[in-house]
Amino acid sequence: MNVPFLDLKGQCAAIRGEIAAAIGRVLDEAAFAGGPFVKRFEEEFGAFCDTRHCVGVGNGTDALWTALLAFGIGPGDEVITVPNTFIATAEAISFCGARPVFVDVDPATCTMAPALVEQAITARTKAVIPVHLFGQAADMDPIVAIARKHGLVVIEDACQAHGAQYRGRPAGSLGDAGCFSFYPGKNLGAYGEAGAVVTAHDGAAQKMRMFREHGQPKKYFHDLVGWNCRMDGMQAAVLSVKLKFLPAWNEARRENAALYGQLLAGLPDIELPYEAPYGRHVYHIYAIRTHRREALAAALGKRGIATGIHYPVPLHLTGAYRHLGYGPGSFPASERIAGELLSLPMFPELNGQQIDYVAWSVRRFMSVRERGLAMQAESVYVRRRAAERAAADHAGAEAVDREKMMVP
Ligand SMILES: *Cc1c(COP(=O)(O)O)cnc(C)c1O
Repeated sequence: MNVPFLDLKGQCAAIRGEIAAAIGRVLDEAAFAGGPFVKRFEEEFGAFCDTRHCVGVGNGTDALWTALLAFGIGPGDEVITVPNTFIATAEAISFCGARPVFVDVDPATCTMAPALVEQAITARTKAVIPVHLFGQAADMDPIVAIARKHGLVVIEDACQAHGAQYRGRPAGSLGDAGCFSFYPGKNLGAYGEAGAVVTAHDGAAQKMRMFREHGQPKKYFHDLVGWNCRMDGMQAAVLSVKLKFLPAWNEARRENAALYGQLLAGLPDIELPYEAPYGRHVYHIYAIRTHRREALAAALGKRGIATGIHYPVPLHLTGAYRHLGYGPGSFPASERIAGELLSLPMFPELNGQQIDYVAWSVRRFMSVRERGLAMQAESVYVRRRAAERAAADHAGAEAVDREKMMVP
């Protein structure tokens, strides 16, 4: 059996008719750059995030950059963020001419540790960017409280957290602005590149709309030095179709995570992802932790199971950010996590049989020394889950050929 890391083809096939019709409408109207399809998606996604404004841009990196610029971040400023994120978070800070200042993460949630933020604040600090990593919101209330106390802007990197919640409120609506990526592999993915910023601030939204289009409030009248980072019409039309499915897709991800959790429970040296009680995790990434990461990844690879590492090098140890002057030991939690995380296949269409197979493969790898015990436990789990899923998945589903699966 092959289990891909994600399956964009399968998802696309399931909604192909609707997508083709939406793209057809864009062709009919020739609304390719900005235009009515972008406006419509902005309204829909702003409502989804419970924010007043949504500004569509070219990608998630543009979203972060545009948001920082709109709140006046520039040369000489410092912006606090975390080292265990995708590099775009820090790049956006650098491309404003500002300096990223890192704080370590909470080892359980892998998101910004609120207790460490205050000591990183200096007279130059202007903003803080918590990252809602893997689909789970950072612990926003204490972060926002510290930011308010010091007059800092809070920009959420919500690029992995479409539909995630924090104390009942949607990711993106928790700070001054929320930045989203619609890169194809994200929970809400375009069929190309796209991104958006959501915000409740009228002035900032207005600036972002001007900035993404050469600083012009009106064609060829330029009030500020801007850039070109518009969202394109086809991506907006695709995203409007896919947004309707996002709640169900996120729910499927949560069910998949719950099943992984059941099947992988109690293994020595496997730490499962932690869902903080304050929110709703949408599992963009399902990352376990183990000290035997490389060997486990290789063993799963041999069985046809794709895995990923998010991310192998914390930003302060990359060549790009070595100049900031941090070194090994600067952020112990981020460094330890970077050496232990292994992302298992996770996407809405992942089925019970595939999850069983992945979990069984992990158990088998982990239990070499305790094989007898493990196989006994495994057979109880696997048979029960296989029976349940076969009944639930669809009537007449082929019975899981467990014997075949057992062959190494
Ligand atoms: C994907 C991602 C980005 C960048 O988004 P792009 O659309 O690829 O530019 C930024 N931050 C995080 C945390 C991401 O996962």
